[in-house]
Amino acid sequence: MAWDRIIGQQRIKQLLQRMYSNNRIPHALLFHGPDGVGKEAVALEFARVLNCAAGEWDACGTCPSCRAMAKLQHPHLKLVFALPARGEDQDDSAVDKLSSDEVEEINAQIAEKAANPYHRIVIPKASIIKISSIRDIRREASFRAGSGRTVVVICEADRMNPQAANALLKTLEEPSGDLLLILTTSRRDALLPTILSRCQLLRFDMLSEDDILAGLQRLPDIDRDSIVAAAHLAAGNYRIAMEMVHEGGLLGREEVLEYVRAVVLNNPVRLMQRIQQILDQEDRQTLARFLVSVASWFRDVLALQEGADRLINSDFRDSIEKFAVHYPDARCSEAVSEIENSIALIPKNVHLVTMMIVLSQRLRRCIIEPGA
Ligand SMILES: [Zn+2]
Repeated sequence: MAWDRIIGQQRIKQLLQRMYSNNRIPHALLFHGPDGVGKEAVALEFARVLNCAAGEWDACGTCPSCRAMAKLQHPHLKLVFALPARGEDQDDSAVDKLSSDEVEEINAQIAEKAANPYHRIVIPKASIIKISSIRDIRREASFRAGSGRTVVVICEADRMNPQAANALLKTLEEPSGDLLLILTTSRRDALLPTILSRCQLLRFDMLSEDDILAGLQRLPDIDRDSIVAAAHLAAGNYRIAMEMVHEGGLLGREEVLEYVRAVVLNNPVRLMQRIQQILDQEDRQTLARFLVSVASWFRDVLALQEGADRLINSDFRDSIEKFAVHYPDARCSEAVSEIENSIALIPKNVHLVTMMIVLSQRLRRCIIEPGA
């Protein structure tokens, strides 16, 4: 039952199960692969299994250890993620210099992660994993005792600054008995080769549309009408799919409308302003979600062209209908695949401004050059 909570990733589950059954779990694992495919969710489930009193591959879910793990409040579990830097001294822990509001936000984020292991922890003003967070690992690991295994999950390990990475290297070089480090990253190449060589690497696959659909179907309180479109549009990223089906989850649709207008009007200045506005958020994930929303918009126009009644952006029906009437020959499915190609390029270190300009030109052609 417990592993059922993890969507797809059969190959990874089997690899971990083999390590578990043969009692050959290394000191450090690196989970790498695309965003939103469940790297952290798998790490948390593995930590639960390693500490469950039942000692089975499927955690029982009811023993005291499982109950503490479900809240992510277990003495054998530590989550490391980016935190605001405050010039900590050698002896300060990673949170010592944070304000009470910041600590509250961290606790709220952990609670959300506990409720949904696919949630991405984001703390305002935090972009790096600090050396103090890495020092805390050693400090706390030395206090822990009892049965089970201490698991430290370093989320988005590529966010470690050089000092933190070097401190981690020391921990990797002198592994302590029961400590298991699990690093996750979607940017494997951004990690030091010396770190990579000390971890056992597990590559996660992109989720299939069916995997995502199955996951979405299990969620409570969602817009059932949009799950098929969301599973398709999310391009293998379950987190994006979840955001799409939750109420108001589609990102910045006013922005989408403005962007489509700028594309159609062929006003380069206005278009560049729009693109710059989207990219100013300095987050590739945000851009991906924006493009997913743009794609959902074209899907809706396509749905209207084909006489369908249900729209993903039903609250924007007026604008979408106007567009469909105005551009009856727009090649919307081609537009959607252009957008999907761009979404796939985002993690690949492309120059985003150039990518957006090229995409915008192609979208314009799809809209105003019918049958080209
Ligand atoms: Zn248990």
